[in-house]
Amino acid sequence: MRITELRLGTLSIPLKKPFKTALRSTDTVTTNIVALVADTGDVGYGEAPPTVAITGDTDGSITCTLATRIAPALIGRDVSELQDAVSAVAHSAVGNTSAKAAADIALHDLWGKLCGQPLSRLWGGTKRTFTTDYTVSLNAPEEMARDAVEAVRDGYDALKIKVGVDFRLDLERIGAVRRAVGPEVLLRVDANQGWTPKEAIRAIRYMEDEGLDIELVEQPVACHDIEGLKWVTDAVETAILADESVYSPRDALRLISLRAADMLNIKLMKSGGLSGALTICGMAESAGMECMIGAMMESKVSVTAAAHLAMARRVVTRYDLDPPILCASDPVRGGVIYDGAALELNDAPGLGIESVEGVAWGEIIKG
Ligand code: MG
Repeated sequence: MRITELRLGTLSIPLKKPFKTALRSTDTVTTNIVALVADTGDVGYGEAPPTVAITGDTDGSITCTLATRIAPALIGRDVSELQDAVSAVAHSAVGNTSAKAAADIALHDLWGKLCGQPLSRLWGGTKRTFTTDYTVSLNAPEEMARDAVEAVRDGYDALKIKVGVDFRLDLERIGAVRRAVGPEVLLRVDANQGWTPKEAIRAIRYMEDEGLDIELVEQPVACHDIEGLKWVTDAVETAILADESVYSPRDALRLISLRAADMLNIKLMKSGGLSGALTICGMAESAGMECMIGAMMESKVSVTAAAHLAMARRVVTRYDLDPPILCASDPVRGGVIYDGAALELNDAPGLGIESVEGVAWGEIIKG
């Protein structure tokens, strides 16, 4: 099975309501879809949303990297030589993790098709299902409490609360959500880099003293402030989850060796796809550090890839894959199946995606 062309397209899916964090606000999932076509007629799908506020990747940088750096490195390659192909993607440019992720995911999809098995099974996965948390967008405390109650009523028993804008108001936000949903619901807090280390320690100690029962706090401080992250991790009892501080396996190695966080949040758009994510899983497992699997505002194409990884790796114990739930429609035929908060995969090879509807296909790069 040889790769003959790479097609680029765009996809836009409206959200049910605006998604707001300390870093950005959006009312659609807008993403770049990649199709790697093989000489057998098989198609491997990948995806790269331009999450410029987090990864720095724009539509322009993603499509340019794919067209001018990645496609020439892949066209003509034999899919059975997967390690050479994923290595070519990883070394195609510095940075550009979203573009690399799209190509790496599409390559794995083709490889799964070549092997005739779903990816999670090729990796020896034994999980058959898991449940995702639900993200409560950053708003006024009363509105967040209302959204949280609605989510619990819809069947979600784990919520991720977005904070990180105005440290004192954040404490009101978290308190309002806990009072509204009662003691049984699992609550996670994501500050998206919004606090200084001192604010984070004050905020988390307050949550502990008030008995708000927060399972973990995600990325309390700036992504580059590894010393600050470690200080927070050492100063509080609540588990600290690194997100924007961990992109590559090398970042994971540093955080693990410093014990700068208690857990790692793996996202394919940060790790440059499944290859980097699998490496991080291995490192975390060796260190006895559990992982969350997360996503940017992505469609079901790359979220399906994340779900295959999560099914296959025991070290992934927490699941934050709700973007498709937040979308008003689902243009992806096949792929991960949602039943409320529960996710499962089909038995089709690779990602198990049949087609993606509504893609505006553009450039086609051939050898
Ligand atoms: Mg996060």
